[in-house]
Amino acid sequence: MSLGILWLGDDLRMADQEVLLRAAQQVDSLVIVYAGELSPWPSHNRRAVSPSPFSRHEPSSLRREFLRQGLLALDEKLQALGQRLWITSADSLTAATASLTALIRHTGATQLFRNAHPGGYEQHVLSQLQRRFVDLQLVECSGLTLFSPSQLPFSLDELPDTFSAFRRQVEALEIDGPMASPDWLPPAPASLDQVLRDAGFTAAADLSSVTPSVIPSVKGGEAAAVAHLQQYFSGAAASVYKDTRNALEGWDNSTKFSYWLAQGSISPRQILQRLKAYERQHGANDSTYWIYFELLWREYFHWYAHLHGPKLFYREGVQKDVQASRAPQGSFYAERFQKWCAGTTPYPIVNACMKQLATTGYLSNRGRQLAASCLIYELGIDWRFGAAYFESQLLDYDVAANWGNWQYIAGVGADPRGGRHFNLDKQAQQYDPEGKFIAKWQGAASSSLASMPLDSVDAADWPVS
Ligand SMILES: Cc1cc2nc3c(=O)[nH]c(=O)nc-3n(C[C@H](O)[C@H](O)[C@H](O)COP(=O)(O)OP(=O)(O)OC[C@H]3O[C@@H](n4cnc5c(N)ncnc54)[C@H](O)[C@@H]3O)c2cc1C
Repeated sequence: MSLGILWLGDDLRMADQEVLLRAAQQVDSLVIVYAGELSPWPSHNRRAVSPSPFSRHEPSSLRREFLRQGLLALDEKLQALGQRLWITSADSLTAATASLTALIRHTGATQLFRNAHPGGYEQHVLSQLQRRFVDLQLVECSGLTLFSPSQLPFSLDELPDTFSAFRRQVEALEIDGPMASPDWLPPAPASLDQVLRDAGFTAAADLSSVTPSVIPSVKGGEAAAVAHLQQYFSGAAASVYKDTRNALEGWDNSTKFSYWLAQGSISPRQILQRLKAYERQHGANDSTYWIYFELLWREYFHWYAHLHGPKLFYREGVQKDVQASRAPQGSFYAERFQKWCAGTTPYPIVNACMKQLATTGYLSNRGRQLAASCLIYELGIDWRFGAAYFESQLLDYDVAANWGNWQYIAGVGADPRGGRHFNLDKQAQQYDPEGKFIAKWQGAASSSLASMPLDSVDAADWPVS
């Protein structure tokens, strides 16, 4: 009798899940678990935290709640096929290694099913498991990306250094259509509940008793993702996307697919299929192409993260010689960082963005660029503190897209031009000419903020008057 474990993370869906279909074909019984960098449990339920050196910030309650919704939605679908989802109660993926190890050991699992993940911790935990269980067969699929490695026209270590070179090589390639959801799954082995609980897993259904302290404005889970996909393409927004995507606000100004892509409740191939259908019905134009173009940016950063591994988190990024590059060195200034997070810097447009982020868990692409540029170039802070703060707040947090974009703006990543320093006054003029965005998010709440010095003390800790 073969027993498989399906380890899910940022891939909480039934449709277009090769990994589920392969498990259905290959094993007699199956255990399905979630173990990811984010835990859905409120902090008082969790074990000790091991914060990254850059992040003093717990993941926001909004992030946890969005994930909780995604997990419950998936569990419901699995239950309809006689299966159920188990969730690690560990607070971090590293802490979940012990649970995964105990589970494999006590079940005698023969196969581990998994979607390749761009995250460093995910890869580290997987290789630890492979080292510990040499007979465990790994069945790895590419459920987070448009392509699989064998479909790319180059090997991973030949990934182009720039997005443009990557795009030119892949944009005309055929992309597989999404796969149907399974209509059958192997059952879970009988009486395994205690083994799972002893290993540190909890039934996902228990999450329904958690009372959320906050409710995000978008709903997690596959049904909500598919409903959004239909809603977006039922209007005309896709035909003007290129003109509107840089707006600082507005639901239809950009696709908002990132929420559900990040938790994997929809796949990029499902989006592409719907985009092609829209183009057949309404005609293709620059804007519809641009949606694909942006999905390719996501694709690029995923392969970039696979290639560069831990360098995604290095101060010098993937640059070989940071001294020779024009990248700022960056340091840490507690007061400046605290002001940036709280949205009380001397820059009203950035303050508005940071307040929008803390309130909603979302920020437009333009807003992210301005906030990042401010932290790096105006405040002189090491870009990684900003990336870690974004990680704690963004509902659509994606390890590859977030850290890859931060590197790009800091000039230590995939950027031949050496960083992006935005002129904040000009940007405010261009994207918020009437100051409505700043007023809405109280970016200039106190008119005195703009004229206040950046620091309250000088280098010798003497108060700046
Ligand atoms: C500093 C910084 C941090 C970022 N962090 C994240 C993150 O954690 N998660 C995330 O999904 N995106 C991130 N982005 C990229 C981008 O800002 C968001 O994907 C986008 O704003 C999400 O809104 P949307 O779905 O409406 O995007 P749209 O403009 O509608 O784009 C469609 C899709 O294309 C992809 N995409 C668009 N722009 C980018 C880009 N620059 N890089 C990679 N993929 C892109 C996303 O999957 C997005 O859903 C970041 C950008 C910056 C500058």
